[in-house]
Parts: sequence; C-alpha cells; structure tokens
Amino acid sequence: MPAATHAIALDLGGTHLKAACVSVRGEVLEFVCVPSRALEGEDALMDTLVGVSRRWRPGAAAVGVGCPGVIHPVDGALVDVTPHLALPAGFPLREALESALALPVAADNDANCAARGEHGAGAARGARVAVVITVGTGIGCGIVIEGRVLRGAWGGGGEIGHMSVGSRGPACGCGVAGCAEPMAGGDGLVQRARAAGLAVHGAQDVFALAAAGDASAARLVDEMIDALGQQVACAVQTVNPEVVVVGGGVAQAGEALLAPLRAAIARYAQPSHTRTLRIVPAALGNRAGVVGAGLMAWERVAPPAIGR
Ligand SMILES: [Zn+2]
Repeated sequence: MPAATHAIALDLGGTHLKAACVSVRGEVLEFVCVPSRALEGEDALMDTLVGVSRRWRPGAAAVGVGCPGVIHPVDGALVDVTPHLALPAGFPLREALESALALPVAADNDANCAARGEHGAGAARGARVAVVITVGTGIGCGIVIEGRVLRGAWGGGGEIGHMSVGSRGPACGCGVAGCAEPMAGGDGLVQRARAAGLAVHGAQDVFALAAAGDASAARLVDEMIDALGQQVACAVQTVNPEVVVVGGGVAQAGEALLAPLRAAIARYAQPSHTRTLRIVPAALGNRAGVVGAGLMAWERVAPPAIGR
C-alpha cells in the first residue's frame, strides 16, 4: 500500500463544517467550508461528515474530528447533549465515522482541537504549557500540559468559559451559577449593547463603536474584557502557562482586545505567574481547528515517540 499523504480533518460547528486535508506537519493541503446541517438530526449530520470525507479517502491515513461538547477521550462518544448539535447524549461519533469511512478516527472537543493546532503549528508552537482560548459567541479553551492537550477524566478538561467566578452578572444557559461566559463572550456583549440602545450585529461592531469614541460601547467592552481577564487568570494560576493564545471571532479586534486583556490578567493573577507570560494572537485563524484535528488524526495512527 502506498504511504498515506494526508489526514482528513473535520471541524464541526453548529452552522458550518470546516474540512481539510492536513499533512503530517500540520499543513493544510485542501480546505472547504460547507453547511454542517448539525441541527437537522444525526442522519443529516453524518451525511455531511461522510460526504466531505469521501472525496479525500484515497491516500488518507486517518480522520480527526473536532466538535462542540464533551467528547470522551477513550471511546470518542459525545458525553452529553450540546445545543450546537442535534445528537443524543452518548452518540458514538468516533465509532460511527470509523464504520462509515473504514479509517481510524480520533475525536475531541473543538476548542481542544484549536489548542492542538496552535500548539502543533501555530502561536503556541514549542510551548510546554499553553492556554489557548477562543473568544467567539462564547469562550472556548484548550490547555496544553507538557506538550499534550489536557482532556480530563471524560473529556471536559479546560472548560474555563463555564467556570464560576461568583454570583454577579447574567445567568448562563449551561446552568452554572456565576459562570463567566455571558459576561466574557461575544454574544453577551452584543446583547448588552442592544439593551443599551446600540445598533450592533456582532461583537466587532461594539469594539468599532468603542474605538470611535462611544462611551457606552467603551464601558461594555471594558466590562467584557475585565470578566475575560478574570477567567483567564484562573487558568493562569492553575496551570502556569508560558503563553496564552487568543483566537476566535472577537480576537479580530487585535490589540483593542489584547492590550486591556493583558492588563486584566495581570490584575487577577500573581506577578510570579504573569511577569514573563506571553499573551499573543492566534496564528491559524479559523483553521486552527482543522489543523489540530488533522494532527490528532496523525497521532492516532503514529503516536509520537516522545511525550507519551
Ligand atoms: Zn456557563
């Protein structure tokens, strides 16, 4: 059999599926983005995943799939229902793809895949300990410890977006009291901006208004970044990373987000933990997830000799 040339990488979201062929070094050889049909039920979703993968089946070593929710590290099943996918709790994602494609499959949470991508081929490359956050509608986070993504006992490691920081602020849909995501994520920012009478479509609009001198937009942005900084500081105190990588749609604000975020993290974490901590933008943009899924697929068939 000829040597495999690529892994098939799938980054599944509630509305879109990003898919790619990824080399063993994490290069994206081909990339497509299609509607995921994730909310139309498991048959529609599996059709999408399998349909996209089939074209790249020749020459593929394995498949990696990242998806919202908690994915069990041992059997690759969805541990619980997630609002982003119409899949039942316990859905055997890895097993279903393995039997449909007749290839080895690795599955993990989407934020963990983004962390694996940024660590393997992006802004956290070479770091022993890294925190990779995705600031979009909510807060995703993946933590790299000693070069490996922390998965937790049943796949829920590193979920800092739903860590409680006290009882202030609006309630989160997940049910945790004092969860930070409604204050620290993009959706919450947009909702509060609208409640304040600002005409905004997305978080970027609130940042743009703040940059243009709108005092109420500026205050909302400050509050959001303060909450995010408090959240990230908890992770910084817990794992003492050398780098925090910030990606996701809201991170497109660049230094308008990063500069005050650095200050907020310094407010809420000890100087010993932040003095030489680097807080940098993500390098792979919206492809971090597929790069990480691809690298995870390669690991499934050829585990790295070091670090296991
Ligand atoms: Zn929550």
